[in-house]
Amino acid sequence: MKILMIGAHQDDNEFCCGGLAHKYVKMGYEVRFLSMCNGGGGHHIMTYEETVARRAKESAAVAKLLGVTYDVWDVHDCNLVADLATRKRLIRYIREFAPDLIIAHRPNDYHADHRASGQLVMDASYLLTVPNECPDAPAMRQMPVIMYNEDRFKNPEFCPTVVLDMDDEIDTKLAIADLNVSQVYEWLPYTHGEEAPEGREERWAFLKGMEITADTTDEEVMAAKYGYAVRFAKTAARFRQQLIERYGEEKGSKIRYAEAFELCDYGQPLTEELKKALFPF
Ligand SMILES: [Zn+2]
Repeated sequence: MKILMIGAHQDDNEFCCGGLAHKYVKMGYEVRFLSMCNGGGGHHIMTYEETVARRAKESAAVAKLLGVTYDVWDVHDCNLVADLATRKRLIRYIREFAPDLIIAHRPNDYHADHRASGQLVMDASYLLTVPNECPDAPAMRQMPVIMYNEDRFKNPEFCPTVVLDMDDEIDTKLAIADLNVSQVYEWLPYTHGEEAPEGREERWAFLKGMEITADTTDEEVMAAKYGYAVRFAKTAARFRQQLIERYGEEKGSKIRYAEAFELCDYGQPLTEELKKALFPF
């Protein structure tokens, strides 16, 4: 199986589906990350060009840790639009890799780049199979399955098709966050009006947020302040019922960290057979 994870920015795939990516790599599936923007907008001290270069290095480190290939397009941050030229670029790009599954943003999201990225994937979906569209890149015989990453927006609300146990991936997810130094310890704290700590242990505690144990309740998790581990724990708390349905009461009620994905109607239908192949966890 070949999996293509498409985010607007470097860190979107990492945070939303980095655990799933790592599970796939361990199974021998081929995983590719695409960041449609080049990351230059994400810093308050470095210049645009310096930020692009630094983000590229951080993404290369993430790719190495996860065992994925990682492409970054040259579109400037905050400048991604769902225009015809970018749609054609995406059609050619997807056809060349020919993935079985694409994971993307939903097209309703706070960030213009996220919305455009999700829209572009939807706009490309059916056209992937139309031979006279971009005839220089051979058309696919069938569309990939397309799924959306989780978000917190309410109109319409994210409604997961699969919710997956990530307890075995939480350390990897935090390690990925830790590699995105310029984002996680510099830019994002700046945007939140905070400062990240300097020392190794202090930074790990910062990534974790509150200490989550077997006794921590879902209500406590949902009320907790931001932290990367907390963010992934909130997915498990938010979709507890789906975890119990998938893994049974015994295991499902104890899962601490999760990732969730919603099926997009415009890709290949998720048959039972495909569900088994794509989500055998
Ligand atoms: Zn983003």
